[in-house]
Amino acid sequence: MTIDIAITNGTVMPMGGASAIERGTVTIKGDKIAAVGPSADVDIAGAVKVIDASNCVIMPGFANSHTHIASNMLLRGLLEDVRLFEWLGTMWKLKQNFDPETLYWANMNGLVEMVKSGITAFNEHFDAYAVEPQIEALKELPLRATLGYGFADRGIYAQITDWSWKTLNSFGDLVDRHHHSNGGLLQIGLSPHAPYSCGAEMYHLVREVADAYSVPIHTHLAEGPQEIAYVQEHYGTSPVRWLHSLGFLKSDVTAAHCTQLDEEDARILAETGTKIAHCPICNAKLSSGTLHLECVQRHGVTVGLATDGPASHNTLDMFQEMKFASIIHKDKTGNAEFLPTTQVLEMATAEGAKAMNRPETGQLCAGMAADVIVVNLDTTHTMPVYDPAASLVYSSRADDVLHTIVAGQLLMENRIVAGVDEAEIRRNFHAKAHALRTRSLT
Ligand SMILES: [Zn+2]
Repeated sequence: MTIDIAITNGTVMPMGGASAIERGTVTIKGDKIAAVGPSADVDIAGAVKVIDASNCVIMPGFANSHTHIASNMLLRGLLEDVRLFEWLGTMWKLKQNFDPETLYWANMNGLVEMVKSGITAFNEHFDAYAVEPQIEALKELPLRATLGYGFADRGIYAQITDWSWKTLNSFGDLVDRHHHSNGGLLQIGLSPHAPYSCGAEMYHLVREVADAYSVPIHTHLAEGPQEIAYVQEHYGTSPVRWLHSLGFLKSDVTAAHCTQLDEEDARILAETGTKIAHCPICNAKLSSGTLHLECVQRHGVTVGLATDGPASHNTLDMFQEMKFASIIHKDKTGNAEFLPTTQVLEMATAEGAKAMNRPETGQLCAGMAADVIVVNLDTTHTMPVYDPAASLVYSSRADDVLHTIVAGQLLMENRIVAGVDEAEIRRNFHAKAHALRTRSLT
């Protein structure tokens, strides 16, 4: 068997519960992992390309299980130090003026940022409503992506009601056109916005469409205290119990946030197989609360880590997210032993992939998708490196990612992103974003 890429002499962290290999090799054939093992045991003869990963970690790329690059990229740094609903209201003023070209450059910037920070798969919750610019951008920089069409029918999102019903009622056409496209990397999904912005009828139809076409669902759920108050007032129960009463919750659902769960809610998520995308930085920044991680883990819920959009996190950087997750849960539980480094790495990779219903990625073992990153540990800020897992979670930075491979394709080599002009992307994105702000907020 001819090997396409051999990555050798690094510390392999395969994830998925497998032990690290101190001097290991990962080989890739086509779009799949061919072999993982000690360098002495893995045959790399005839490999088309050999990457020396000395002083580096070879690991699966990060799975970012909840983000909004299409829209939120345009809102990064626009609005700081405000509450969730004020923030959503101002964002909406810009969203009304989105145009395809602006979204295209925003998407390109977001894709480059993710490739450069080692994110190889992402779960997009659309609140830009025009999906095509992101599909176009993904043709140029093909990450593994699930793009969820955003739907809503009330509150500040009421303006997209007609579009939402129309799109839901003709979703089969979109499935035919886009699902499993871009060489199988691109999937589409359904993203009802949240229990305070979608009614029961909309959640019912989303469930019907998901069942009919076997497409995943991605919704915000139990994000903060205001949502709890809204659902209590309108439906007399919690957001999780309300969605469960509609027959909505199943294993194809990724629920972002879930900061406001009680034991019964956690039990329902476990029983239905609903997954959680955990966004601790966004939740803390918007003062929404903190997921009770110990509780949902005890019930057996799958939890992936996620950045959320750049409006509420400001970067697409899973290193920051891992470090913050570790710290905030130690603080909240009063237990420094809670959430060890290997577990937070699993949440950012293998568990994150499962949380976004893309189990083909997130682990390095033969037959899995060849989504691999190489992270340099030979840096001043990581020295002396006693424990690579500790370095990755607490000391490493996004800029330490040297190489990013998606489906066997080297998207970034030695920090150079293949086939794109980064300076042109930054220039166009900056010009379009500032023009959007000017016509929206003045
Ligand atoms: Zn979100």
